[in-house]
Amino acid sequence: MKQISHWINGATVAGTSSRSGNVFNPATGVQTAAVDFASVEEVDQVVAAAVDAFPAWRATNLSRRAEILFNIRDLVHTNRSEIASVLSAEHGKVLSDAIGEVSRGLENIEFACGVPHLLKGGYSEQASVGVDVYSIKQPLGVVAGITPFNFPAMVPMWMFANALACGNTFVLKPSEKDPSVALYLAELLQQAGVPDGVFNVVNGDKVAVDRLLTHPDIAAVSFVGSTPIAKYIYETGTKNGKRVQALGGAKNHMLVLPDADLDMAADAAVSAAYGSAGERCMAISVLLAVDSVADALIEKVKERIPAIKVGPGSDPANEMGPLITAEHRDKVASYLAGAAAEGAKVVVDGREGIPAEGYFIKPSILDEVKPGMRCYDEEIFGPVLNVVRVKTYDEGVALINSNAFGNGVALFTRDGGVARQFQFDVSVGMVGINVPIPVPVSYYSFGGWKNSLFGDHHMYGPEGINFYTRSKVVTSRWPDPRTSSVDLGFPTNR
Ligand code: NAD
Repeated sequence: MKQISHWINGATVAGTSSRSGNVFNPATGVQTAAVDFASVEEVDQVVAAAVDAFPAWRATNLSRRAEILFNIRDLVHTNRSEIASVLSAEHGKVLSDAIGEVSRGLENIEFACGVPHLLKGGYSEQASVGVDVYSIKQPLGVVAGITPFNFPAMVPMWMFANALACGNTFVLKPSEKDPSVALYLAELLQQAGVPDGVFNVVNGDKVAVDRLLTHPDIAAVSFVGSTPIAKYIYETGTKNGKRVQALGGAKNHMLVLPDADLDMAADAAVSAAYGSAGERCMAISVLLAVDSVADALIEKVKERIPAIKVGPGSDPANEMGPLITAEHRDKVASYLAGAAAEGAKVVVDGREGIPAEGYFIKPSILDEVKPGMRCYDEEIFGPVLNVVRVKTYDEGVALINSNAFGNGVALFTRDGGVARQFQFDVSVGMVGINVPIPVPVSYYSFGGWKNSLFGDHHMYGPEGINFYTRSKVVTSRWPDPRTSSVDLGFPTNR
């Protein structure tokens, strides 16, 4: 059985805690590996390596850092199929989707290649006579990234690309459910020229996370995962004096107005609800259909479902893989099982006709869903599309805005004026206009509102650079006899 260990100071280091977790192939339900769970002492060892590597990395000139990032970009690009198959084997998503994940992660590395430009500060000459003022951005020190199972390659790239570019050293704690890709990336980073200790991976569970949250040498924590844990990470990390950005769960709505192109809307709903088996924080979970088009729209979604090829991610013909674990599959199935009793209508039941092995659930539709039902109030994180019928645009927007989450949202319409009003009205961080999964490109930043994000910084892009740096303002004067005098008054501009 494969044993998955830690990556400390540029080398694989076997765990010593005698605690570990099981890693499965979700398409077969067969255990493929065991992953070491770090003890407090092992986390301390990783952090110490990152502390030691920080002074030299911080002093490395910007051109060299950019050169290394270009090398990482080339290596990730060259090995993208291999990265995709490593992650697909443990996550279950189909290869084409996994390659898409790697490509979106790569964008963040490409963004970080521009670090010499991104770290430019401001300069004001002659703020006072003979006095200049300038601002600089400096790294924080050792920063940690704690990541979810659903994007085991992309989400770490959201974090470490900018963190390293800014001169920080990094400790990654990947999901214990699909940890192999993090170690694969660690080896690529080493090949790219990242010095030992600058990028480290510690595997583990709550013990490792809690130590990172309280360790005095961790300056900042980036987290992506479920809302209860995100809130816990934010509260515990900030209580311990750390800068924290903690992205949580979601319940994304897609509002379809009567003037929308219904075929385009149905294609989008199917792609966004069932892609990656619904295990995306930007997946569409709720289809808000304005009454007059609801029946037609549901029919169009329904007729597309039989064509979706569900099966192991390793078969390139498949379009949708299994869920991550047996427990998660059972939880998703419980929403379908309980829906009728709550008053919803099961239009397509994805529990029917599933493969005998593995953690599969097929695409499902629940109609006549309403707030107050479990399937509406909770994040399902599976291939279940809830249809909520609304009478008007205003009713749809009110529902979106009263939801506890505010990650992504989409509007389908041909009316530019309504679309513009929608972007003005909605309390959601990422908005798609006829775009169902509006994950921002890497030169913007990613982040939801409300229970989808705890902290002040969105992730990656310009906000990522701000998160991973501290600014310093220098006020300077050079000796000039004409401007020197004794003056005990408070300095004012002259
Ligand atoms: P999760 O919250 O269970 O785990 C995320 C990380 O936290 C993992 O590394 C895990 O080991 C750690 N963790 C889990 N329980 C912990 C605890 N009690 N104490 C300390 N650490 C703990 O999330 P997941 O199931 O891996 O991922 C799915 C969730 O992530 C969904 O809710 C999804 O919406 C969310 N997500 C959000 C975004 C976003 O950008 N907002 C992106 C991807 C995923």
